Amino acid sequence: MEGPRLTFLSGGTGTPKLLRGFRELDYRPFEVVVNTGEDNRILGLHVSPDVDTVVYTLAGIVNEETWYGIENDTFRGHGFLEDLGVDEPLRIGDADRALKQYRTYLMEEEGLTLSEATDRIRKALGVRWPVHPMTDDTVTTIVVTDEGKMHFHEFWVERRGEPAVKDVVYEGADEASPSPGALRAVSNADVVVIGPSNPVTSIGPILSLSELRRAVAEKPLVVVSPFVGEGAVSGPADKLIRAAGFEPDVHGLVEYYREWGLEPDVLVMDERDPNEEPDVPVVIRTNTVMKDVKDSVALARRVVKAADEAIR
Ligand code: GDP
Repeated sequence: MEGPRLTFLSGGTGTPKLLRGFRELDYRPFEVVVNTGEDNRILGLHVSPDVDTVVYTLAGIVNEETWYGIENDTFRGHGFLEDLGVDEPLRIGDADRALKQYRTYLMEEEGLTLSEATDRIRKALGVRWPVHPMTDDTVTTIVVTDEGKMHFHEFWVERRGEPAVKDVVYEGADEASPSPGALRAVSNADVVVIGPSNPVTSIGPILSLSELRRAVAEKPLVVVSPFVGEGAVSGPADKLIRAAGFEPDVHGLVEYYREWGLEPDVLVMDERDPNEEPDVPVVIRTNTVMKDVKDSVALARRVVKAADEAIR
């Protein structure tokens, strides 16, 4: 399928589910700008969880149970590390570990940037759509809780999102530049699509890069809601958007992006959402819950329609 040139802003679950639909449609052209605020080092490996999920999704090999890692991966390495007394903070599968090792090698031994390494890897996996980490610098999403500051991974995976959240900050954002590919992808887009990702921990870090945010603000904008009624489809988005001072619903979502200086042209919200439609030029109601690839394809088609409306 062909249509307007789309650039997605993505985290590692909701937007990848939508991208699964675009992959299935073999849609062209599109590019993806991906959050790196959760990047981390684990046992010497450069872990970029959202970038990996997007690449695996577009390669058709993502683990669709968890939206993390590779389907049918094995965990012998992880188990063996446990035998060695290593408490790995993340269960990394064997093939997934090999990819992360290769990326770390490309960056540290061959001197590639994260963007260049990602491009090498996605091409090797036969992914025809460009995937851009938002930056090649270090920006880290920090959750400020009543128990102190923590990396998002510590907050969500190790502490199961339990501590009370006071604030979320993007450390390093003021000094960081967008990756050249990310900036080009936004500048060349007909329409920018903010997928149904966690606004505060997946999209906020991307928008915290001022040059990239200004580029997004100049484009027709489609926003797909990650909220259905009062609450997120999954994950801690509710708690985090509340901590940022907004309601976890379509109204809070639109206000949140306005606070960043963005004006959505089209909002795609769930057909079952009991909320009134926010004051956005075009609101499209449809099923936004993607239980399987069919749902993803149907929503992708609606998003293409939304993009057509945004340009009009
Ligand atoms: P993360 O990087 O793993 O935190 O993932 P994202 O930020 O990309 O996605 C998390 C968000 O996706 C949550 O706010 C969920 O509400 C949303 N989400 C997950 N699955 C779906 C879905 O099927 N439909 C919609 N509309 N949102 C979803």
